[in-house]
Amino acid sequence: MKRIGLYIHIPFCLQKCAYCDFYSIPGRDEALQKRYINALTLHMKTLSTTMEDRVFDTVYIGGGTPGLLTAEMLTTLINGINDNFKLTEDAEITLETNPAVADEAKFRVMRSLGINRLSMGMQSSEESVLRTLGRLHTFDQFAETFREARRAGFENLSADVMYALPGQTVDGLLETIRSLIALSPEHISMYGLKVEENTPFGRLGGKLSLPDEDIQCEMYERACDLLETEGYHRYEISNFVKDGYESRHNLRYWQREEYLGLGPAAHSFVDGVRYSYPRDIMAYITALEQGSLTATDSLIRITPAEAEAEKIMLGLRLAEGIIATAELLKKCENYLRYGFMKRKGERIAFTTKGFLVSNTILAELLDD
Ligand code: SF4
Repeated sequence: MKRIGLYIHIPFCLQKCAYCDFYSIPGRDEALQKRYINALTLHMKTLSTTMEDRVFDTVYIGGGTPGLLTAEMLTTLINGINDNFKLTEDAEITLETNPAVADEAKFRVMRSLGINRLSMGMQSSEESVLRTLGRLHTFDQFAETFREARRAGFENLSADVMYALPGQTVDGLLETIRSLIALSPEHISMYGLKVEENTPFGRLGGKLSLPDEDIQCEMYERACDLLETEGYHRYEISNFVKDGYESRHNLRYWQREEYLGLGPAAHSFVDGVRYSYPRDIMAYITALEQGSLTATDSLIRITPAEAEAEKIMLGLRLAEGIIATAELLKKCENYLRYGFMKRKGERIAFTTKGFLVSNTILAELLDD
């Protein structure tokens, strides 16, 4: 039976963060949330026959802030998954949450439903930076939420931190990472800020005071060194783990394995086709309630040439890199010679220096 992952998008947040371009609606509209969960259940029902020949070994409930959902809504959602799809015994089931939207009691419900991994937004331990980002929590609240999740029985916890932020220094970032490591998460994601146009940060344009490029590079390099020293190895450009705790769901994106995405803005890759649903929750709900969900933003059948390009683009995000053809090796000669890439047997991979300019290198490699 074919293996596949399931992504479910929960497009609700208490408030939009100043940098965030993900599709989510701010506020606490429980009636809308409930209606949305019912629509998702309907969607799963319509897909259950198509997915009969597949078994799901990862589930990722992302957003948005899925931790906002009530225990009752989470129960309906997980029951919907179990009623309509086959899951492996050891399926990795991740849920994203933020500090102060879930407490120990809700975490216990999540564990009892089979959710076995949490990914939490921390972003920084510096209160001034958190305020600039528009985050609704302090570092102490993050730490308390993290401990509550542990007490509820979660043995696989991940946290996100960010670098290249307005007002952040190299020392501030390293202090953030040390504070996080003190809590002993199994997995750490570290993302550089990308200023997206349609966000409050994007609208500030040149008025946003960011660390310059050299400082941003120093931040990434020194944070990677610190994480490695503390036993977190980098397995992907932005992701670090204690041995054995790689995110199995995220690995499938980089290894081009299949995933089914449900919800507005969710992407799927099934049977060699990539498609997504529009960023419009009401259109999604209404279509499902009327039994006519067909609209997609994009529907692309990947050609063999595109598949090869994807293998390079996605595979080189991984620290283990990819098996290189003779042609690719030839193209990478200079990157290998000047230390942007390294070679181990048949595999090539970026070095830290290479990861810092990986977008430029990939654009050159995939130019023709
Ligand atoms: S909580 Fe997460 S998804 Fe919601 S606005 Fe902030 S960064 Fe975006």
